[in-house]
Amino acid sequence: MPSVLITGASRGLGLEWARQYAGAGWRVFASARHPLESRELQALAAAHDNLTTHRLDVTRDDEIRALAWDLAEEPLDLLVNNAGAYFEKYVPDGLGRIRYDHWEETFRVNTLGPVRVTEAFVEHLARGDGRLVAAVTSHMGSIHDITAPGDYAYRSSKAALNAAMKGLAHELEPRGIGVLLLHPGWVRTRMGGPDGRLDCETSVRAMRERVASYTPAWNARFLRYDGTEIPW
Ligand code: NDP
Repeated sequence: MPSVLITGASRGLGLEWARQYAGAGWRVFASARHPLESRELQALAAAHDNLTTHRLDVTRDDEIRALAWDLAEEPLDLLVNNAGAYFEKYVPDGLGRIRYDHWEETFRVNTLGPVRVTEAFVEHLARGDGRLVAAVTSHMGSIHDITAPGDYAYRSSKAALNAAMKGLAHELEPRGIGVLLLHPGWVRTRMGGPDGRLDCETSVRAMRERVASYTPAWNARFLRYDGTEIPW
């Protein structure tokens, strides 16, 4: 049975990654900051023997290490670094209004978090068959695509995530571990808002196709959910 660890599985896209892989019969380790507070995640766990929930704040080194230790015997086929934060969505920024505290937290969640979690689970992935790290990034991390002001923290955190993951891909390649940078599309979640073009089901189904059809030729590529490439 293939296995997957998902971060930020309390709601939105993370919950949907967990739902679809559980439905497909994978062994799912669904992690969240407060797993007991997500009724939907608890309902998913109750409905699927192959899904367990785990406490993981991706900014907390102690929690990352504890989970890596708890799962020490488990080979991992796939790690989905999904958890993300976007403060400017709720508190718009601009010169004179930049919240540096939010910026630092955004980097902790969106950039350092996925690197920390990947680092902690390299050995688990090396023992799996799939050996893939999927980072849920954003087209807003494309420097090429910046045509308007604002969203400084979110954009720079995802650009830095892309750079870090591309670098990590070189370090992971000799271990047979690949990296995919996936933009989910504009999706109706708390972060994406009600006007998003896609529902979670469609977005995650498409991103799972990218995972399923992964070959080393796709290593460290920056892709939309539909497989088209995004300029850096
Ligand atoms: P949501 O806001 O619905 O979900 C964000 C998730 O991240 C929640 O599960 C939240 O947990 C979790 N999270 C936040 N901080 C932490 C942390 N420190 N540790 C662990 N988990 C944390 O957003 P989406 O589902 O839309 O976003 C998922 C990913 O997709 C993000 O990386 C986002 O940047 C990316 N994305 C989304 C787009 C969209 O249109 N929706 C577009 C482009 C990219 P909690 O419930 O505890 O707050």
